[in-house]
Parts: sequence; structure tokens; C-alpha cells
Amino acid sequence: MDRSPLFETFARIPLALDRGEGVWVFTTDGRRLLDFSGGIAVNALGHAHPRLVEALKSQADRLWHVSNLFQIPEQEALAEALVGSTFADKVFFCNSGAEAVECAIKTARRYQFVSGHPERYRIVTFAGAFHGRTLATLAATGNPKYLEGFGPAADGFDQVPLGDLEAVKAAIGPETAAIMIEPIQGEGGIREVSGQFLRDLRALCDEGGLMLIFDEVQTGIGRTGRLFAYEWAGAAPDIMTAAKGIGGGFPFGACLATNEAAKGMTPGTHGSTFGGNPLAMAVGNAVLDVLLEDGFLEDVRRKSLYLKQRLASVVDGHPDLVADVRGEGMLVGVRCVVPVGDVVAACRDQDMLCVAAGENVMRFLPPLNASEEELDEGVRRFDAALAALDQASARDG
Ligand SMILES: *Cc1c(COP(=O)(O)O)cnc(C)c1O
Repeated sequence: MDRSPLFETFARIPLALDRGEGVWVFTTDGRRLLDFSGGIAVNALGHAHPRLVEALKSQADRLWHVSNLFQIPEQEALAEALVGSTFADKVFFCNSGAEAVECAIKTARRYQFVSGHPERYRIVTFAGAFHGRTLATLAATGNPKYLEGFGPAADGFDQVPLGDLEAVKAAIGPETAAIMIEPIQGEGGIREVSGQFLRDLRALCDEGGLMLIFDEVQTGIGRTGRLFAYEWAGAAPDIMTAAKGIGGGFPFGACLATNEAAKGMTPGTHGSTFGGNPLAMAVGNAVLDVLLEDGFLEDVRRKSLYLKQRLASVVDGHPDLVADVRGEGMLVGVRCVVPVGDVVAACRDQDMLCVAAGENVMRFLPPLNASEEELDEGVRRFDAALAALDQASARDG
């Protein structure tokens, strides 16, 4: 590993993954693990879902790439489906979450520019946020640890504490263009704000002529049991991002907006070579078809309650190790008392993959189509991991 030709930007776990099937992944040396890391909320329908595999293969036989110089029917179809099931009127396709956020930032600034407010470019964001790793989205994220050593942070972002409406009001000035928030902070530790807070932000934006941006890169595409998490709050944004789950593992992202919000994004103002590529669009259409089937999201909500109840009873049995269960849908967090890395490693010893998040929280991100039995299996392995940690600490202490 120390001779790897790769950048050392990831502290990689020494498991070489070779193949996946539903909630399971297999290593090159034949180990089978229950995958509740879900590629960090990307594998919405698990691994190798037959309909996604079929969509990708048949598109691969027809057309891989043209250019956005031309019409791409699969792109129109997916945009139509997204617009038909959200607040939005318009969609821009790109390649990642950070690019979707970049597009959202540009769209908000450009809206103000063409509305007679070229001075409005600043965006209010929230402590604990994660918006990506490009230079602008890093500045929006505002985490000093991620910004260090990369020169001056991009100008135009004002961070306030999460859930603090007075701080938001105080941060809004004559140069403010927008407010940007994740309806549930994913990387920050499955941190929720109230629906009331999101509705209050909506009202502030309406009063001040500001754009409201929801970053739903992690919460979108059914992850919280609604197609997008804003539906829980009953407050729609003007601009919204999506990525992670949108291609079920095929990388792409999207920025959605109302007609009004997108009015400044005229020919030449933005672009992407790969964005909306036919392969990505074919898979994206298949993902959305499955999610929008009758009863699918309802089923996610039902299974989520079940998972959270089961996890809560496991958590109750180990108060010295873990504290509480939080989240919505298949975006579930367990706050740890001991270092979350120890819990993640103990789960791996039980052949189960999970991911850590901020605030010492362990994330469970099973595929949306995981069965109750598969969720049970995850809970059982989590319980066994905690029991092993208890035993180890009894031995050491
Ligand atoms: C993961 C994430 C991003 C960045 O997505 P990338 O595809 O890694 O660029 C942005 N916003 C949120 C809320 C995310 O969870």
C-alpha cells in the first residue's frame, strides 16, 4: 500500500472489492460482506440491479457520447421525469455532487445579476455543512481543515450555526444572493433541522428576494423515504442539487430550478462536456422508474421505521458504546460514545460495511430496496459488533 501509485488523499481500508449483488459485496479473495455503506448513499438500488444493468448494456450498444451541441433524447426524458415529480421546471446535468452545487451557486448569482442586483453574490451557509471539494464548494463548506493550504478561500460565503434563524437574519446583507442548506446534513453527522426552520428560510428568501438552495446530493433520490427531503418540510427551494443516488452508481449529478430561478442561465453561461451523457441518462431513467413505482417510497418509509426501532433497541442495550438513533428513510445515524472508528471497525469484523460521519456518528446507508430480512441481518451484525467491543473493553479494563 505504501508503494501505491495513487494520490494518498484517501486512507483506504485494506479490502479489495471485486463484485456486488444487492446488499452484498465480495472481495477479490472471496469474503462476503453486508454493504450498509452503500457507496456513501450512491447505490440506491444495491449492487448490480438487473434493470440498471440492462439499461446500461442496451445503451452501451447504441450510443455512448455525443455532445450537448446536439439533442439527447434520454436527457430530455430524465429531465421531464424529474420536473414532473418535483417543484422544478428546468434541469442541468453534470458529473458529480460538487458540480451540481457549483451550478446551483452560479444559477443563484446569475439570477440576481439579471434581476438588476449584480451586487448580490454572497451565500449564507451553515456550520457542519458539506457541499463538495472544488474551490467554491469548499468555501461553502467552510471547514477549516479542508481549506488549509489551498490559498485564500473563494469569496462570497457567510457561515452561521445550523438552526439559528437570528444568525441567518444577521448574516443577510445587501450583497446576499441566496441561502444554501442540506435538509439533513449527511457528512456532518445526520444532523436534522426542523421543518419549521426550512419554512422560515423560505419566508426569509421570499421577503428579501433571495434564492433558496437545497443541497440534496445526499438526501435526494428517495434516500429519506421521499423522492426529495424537502417534501418532508413542505417548503420547496428555488434551486436544488442531486447526485449520489441519481445514477445508482453511475456517476452524474443534476441541478434543478424553477423557470424564474434559471432565467439567467442563457446560452454560453454554463456548460459541461460529459454532463447528461447518454449512458448516465439511460441508468438515471431506470433508477427513477423504479423509485416512482407505486408504493416503492412508501415501502422505504415503512422499512425505515422498522430499522430505526430495531437499532434503538440495540442501542439501549449498549449505553456505554452508543447513544441515539437519528435520520430519515435509509439515511440513518447512530451517535457513538466511543470513537466511531472503533465501531465501524468492529462492524467490519462482523463482515458488515458502514461509514462514519461528523459528530462521532455511524451511518447506515442500506439500499432503498433492502428487504426486512436484510435489514435484520444488519442489525444483528451491529449488535454482535457492539457485544465484541463490550467484551474487549471488559478484558482490557
Ligand atoms: C457528497 C456530497 C457533495 C459532493 O458530492 P461529490 O459527488 O463528491 O462531488 C455535495 N453535497 C452533499 C450534501 C454531499 O453529501
